[in-house]
Amino acid sequence: MKKISILGTTGSIGTQTLDVLRKDRENFKLIGISANSNVEKLLKIVEEFKPLYAVVTQKEAYLKFKEYFRNKNANLEILFGTEGLNTIASLPEIDMVVTSVMGMSGLVPTIRAIEAGKDIALANKETLVVGGELVKKLVKKNNVNLIPVDSEHSAIFQCLQGNEDSDIEKILITASGGPFRGKNRKELLNVTVQQALRHPKWHMGKKITVDSATLMNKGLEVIEAHWLFDLPYEKIKVVVHPESIVHSMVEYKDGSVIAQLASTDMRLPIQYALYYPKRGELVVDRLNFYNLKNLTFEKPDIDTFKPLKLAYEAGKIGGTMPAILNCANEEAVELFLLNKIKFLDIGYIVEMCMNKFPPKNNFQLEDLLHIEIKVKEYVKTKFGR
Ligand code: NDP
Ligand code: MG
Repeated sequence: MKKISILGTTGSIGTQTLDVLRKDRENFKLIGISANSNVEKLLKIVEEFKPLYAVVTQKEAYLKFKEYFRNKNANLEILFGTEGLNTIASLPEIDMVVTSVMGMSGLVPTIRAIEAGKDIALANKETLVVGGELVKKLVKKNNVNLIPVDSEHSAIFQCLQGNEDSDIEKILITASGGPFRGKNRKELLNVTVQQALRHPKWHMGKKITVDSATLMNKGLEVIEAHWLFDLPYEKIKVVVHPESIVHSMVEYKDGSVIAQLASTDMRLPIQYALYYPKRGELVVDRLNFYNLKNLTFEKPDIDTFKPLKLAYEAGKIGGTMPAILNCANEEAVELFLLNKIKFLDIGYIVEMCMNKFPPKNNFQLEDLLHIEIKVKEYVKTKFGR
């Protein structure tokens, strides 16, 4: 039996992870769960899965949740904040942590989990974007598995099985292109939050959905792939594939390209990470090749969707530059969702922060946390009024 904690249990990935667990209660036991503020949903999860620990990271929500359990004789320990996440990520009794919180809040708990020797099913890509260098060192030192959940990285991970890393020519990360594929900058000037949240293929949390519309999501995935697969940026290419059936590909030096195809459903990469190196039972609709008419591919338009270009640049500069890019983006997306800035301002703000904040090599965790405060504060003060 595998015992797990899910950080960010109430979100899109968290909920789909529960779907996978529901199908196999004999082999999985949920020990720790968390929410930021959605305590109603957290409560339902407690009732159904009976975990031993629940974390709430937002203060008022935490107090409300705790109040609910006052005078109830539940076998549940209720914890608060990042400390709470760190605790459920490193419990002696668990084997694996699913990291599905949003944004940089995943970094520290993931590090604590690795230090405690837990395997990681990694959805929270921001962790690797920001702290890839530190995280990879810790993964090696503590000899844990870091298994990607992001569909593209899961695809690449699957295409690499049984092959030599030294035979890789390049990897091809596919991108749906998001809701604004084919549009030019003029057409994007006044797009609304609602339009940006209307993703053609995936139903995801708001932050990643906006990232998919700007193509920053693909940029973050390029940096994530760099760390996961130890590849230079020159060997990581992005291909727009609007049907989202080919989830990514690996091209080998002999010219063979191996791809992973499946229905557009995150439960498959989640399940693959939970069962690795085995495969679980059918969890998504099977592909019917007679009904699949066209699979199309095109080059991304990085002049219109600048964030993808910026992410490559930040990745190549290295040091703390990807952290600067990520923090600027997180805050800018938040401002966009609050209708305080326009869609194209997101890329503009990220570029501005990359020019303003000098990157540092040989950094520690404290440097990253410092960058988070400085960059987000700067963006909020300058653009958030
Ligand atoms: P959601 O917004 O749907 O869920 C985020 C989860 O994190 C929720 O449980 C939320 O709690 C919690 N949370 C939000 N803010 C904080 C915070 N400040 N501190 C701690 N917890 C917080 O996101 P997704 O599930 O879509 O994405 C999660 C991660 O997975 C992201 O890093 C994303 O990039 C990655 N990912 C997602 C994919 C998808 O299909 N959704 C695909 C590939 C990667 P509450 O519900 O209370 O707000
Ligand atoms: Mg992805």
